[in-house]
Formats: sequence, C-alpha cells, structure tokens
Amino acid sequence: MQKCVKTEHHYVSIDIMVRMTYRWDMPQSIGKNAIEVFRALRSAPKSRLELASATGWSRNTVAKRLDELMAEGWVCESEPDSAGRGRPYAQYQMNPKAAVVYAAVFGWHQLTGALCRLDGTPLVTDESPVNLDETQDVLPVLLAQLERLSANPLVDGSRIVAGALGGPSSVANRITTGAWAQSPQLALELPARLGIPFQVENDANAMALGLRRTYPHVDSYIFVKVATGIGAGIVAGGRILRGVDGLAGEVGHIPIPRANSQPCGCGNRGCVSLVTNSQALMRRLSTPEAPVNNLEQVRRLVLSGDGNAAMALREAGQALGEALVGVITAVAPELIILGGRMTQFGDHFSTGVREVITTMTLPAISSRIRVDTVPDHHAAGIQGAADLAVDQFLGG
Ligand SMILES: [Zn+2]
Repeated sequence: MQKCVKTEHHYVSIDIMVRMTYRWDMPQSIGKNAIEVFRALRSAPKSRLELASATGWSRNTVAKRLDELMAEGWVCESEPDSAGRGRPYAQYQMNPKAAVVYAAVFGWHQLTGALCRLDGTPLVTDESPVNLDETQDVLPVLLAQLERLSANPLVDGSRIVAGALGGPSSVANRITTGAWAQSPQLALELPARLGIPFQVENDANAMALGLRRTYPHVDSYIFVKVATGIGAGIVAGGRILRGVDGLAGEVGHIPIPRANSQPCGCGNRGCVSLVTNSQALMRRLSTPEAPVNNLEQVRRLVLSGDGNAAMALREAGQALGEALVGVITAVAPELIILGGRMTQFGDHFSTGVREVITTMTLPAISSRIRVDTVPDHHAAGIQGAADLAVDQFLGG
C-alpha cells in the first residue's frame, strides 16, 4: 500500500507557470468527487467507512475513488501514530506533499511569502522589500517572489493549486495613492495570471485566522496589529467578522478623546491611530537634539530603562484600550491578542491596554478577558493565508 512518505510525482513547476502564465488544469480524475474527499479528510484522517458516512457514497464507490486519488498522489494512507500502534482499519489523509499553496502578507515595507503544504506547513519562505509609501506596482514584486520560491529545491516541482495574501486594509486604499490602491485589480488579476484560485484578504484578518492554530480552544478573540497602521481581525464564534466591504475591524479609526480631534487621513478627526501608531510614538519620543526615527531606537531606549519611553508605550496601549472598549462590549471576546513590534518591548504596551479594558468594560467580561501578545504576527499571517488558500482549493 502506498504511504505518504513514499509518494513521488513529477509536476509542472510553478516558475514555468508564472513565466508563461500557464493555466494548470486538474487531471481528469481530480474533479468534484476528489474535492469532496479532500474536504472530508481535511480535519482528520478517516477510514473508508467514515468516508462513506461523510460523503454519502457506498463503500465500493469510496474504495474506487480512493484508489484513483492515491494513484495520482493526492491521498495516502496515514502512518501509524507515534506510539507505533496500529489501527483496526486503514486511515486515509490528504497527502500534504501532493501540492503547495502560495501564502503571502504585505507589510508597508516588506512582502513575506511562503509555499506551504496542504496542511499549512511552510516549506520555503521569502522576504522582499516593497515600499507602499510610494506608487509601486506590487504585482511584479509578487510574481518575482513566487518564482524564487518555486525554484527552491525543497519545493521539488510540486504543483501549486491556490494562493492567498493579506494586505493593508481597504480603508488604506481610500486614503492613499500608494501601490496597494491597486488591490482590487490585484485580486482580479492574480487568478488570471496564475491560473489558480487566489484570495486577497485584509492582513489583520489573515493574521487572526492564522492564530486559530495557536489558540485552538478559543472561539472569540480580537487580534490587533499595531504598526504603521492599526487594524484588527475579529473572530466571533470561530468565524471572522468582515462586515460591509470587509471594513469590520478598522479599530485604528475609532475616535477617542485623547486624540484631540486631530485630522486623520481617513477624513474623520481624533482617530486612535493618530496617538497610538509607530509614527506617533517616535514623534513623542523625539527631541531636536535626539530625533527618534525608527522602532529600534525605541527598543534601545526601553532596554536602557528610559522611563519616558516606557510611559509613552503604556499610554499608547491605554489609548488603544479606550478604542477597544466598545468593540469588546459588543463582541465579548475571551482574548485580545496584540501583534506588531511596539507590543514586543517589554509588557508596557499590553499593560496599558489591559488596565483600561479591565476598568472600562463590564465586570463579567473584564474578569475573564485575557490580553496576550504574539511574537511573530507575520508568521500568523502566512498561516492564515495558507489556510485561506487551501479553503480556495477546496471550494471555500
Ligand atoms: Zn481615521
């Protein structure tokens, strides 16, 4: 019987696909039926009997389709568990090596991308500089990254079956003339150029989705990315809240009193991002004699015991906490997860968030809510994008 580890197939390589805008078509045997088997196997390996129950097919039909899918290398028999115990019936799983998905996250200055197995495990990753402050066509950067990734020997010519990327929010589209303003076109252009299903998602949403793996038992949580912009991915009852035009989670544009009605690029006044984002922090800590131009300088100040820097981070956290109070009351999440470099300099930022939300939300919520920080929100974004890409492959 063919096992996952022994499966070897030769497939059209992605670099050829990208250069030639080759449209990859599934083999004849990989159609609707195969997708149904994949969906049934995605959550856990299953026996033939369990597959028959999940699909409604007869055991003979299941056996025939499994044979076809195993011959193509899409499905394999599961290995025994780590204790070496056998199972009464053979279990089958999607072959994680059968294909790869492309997962990427755009930051303001960096595109992080990976080719991942069907179980979401990144095989190879790549980081490319971008500059969303200026008008830059992001599509060539993305295609070049995909070509580099696919040329990596670890990918071994695996077929790419879907992709997804997270990028700055749609609010950002409307207030900048930068490269990301092309994202609606990008969402249309990428599937046509690559010949694969491709989803463009708000980056905070992609990161929030990726964090499901870190917090598998938490159903309702809010991830907040604190960087050049501030955005949140809100997960309620296990599902991401997108709202109209994907605008849910734009917490950086919630007005708060301490922003003093300053005008914001979104067109409103007094948005929390004006006093909480990385630029605001650097401005606050700069003096004519000692300008602070990057977050590394902030980190060094905090590490040196600079009380002013620690207090600035704490107050930035408090401002975010004020903005989150209404959201928390509406959603009643179990957990707030903070990501972004500013949240990593000790616990000053998270302390500021925590002290405001624990005093300003309902005691029934504040007594239970936790505030956590995620060390690598880009990795979470890649994971979330990989999961979205597999969703695309399996038909959503
Ligand atoms: Zn605003």
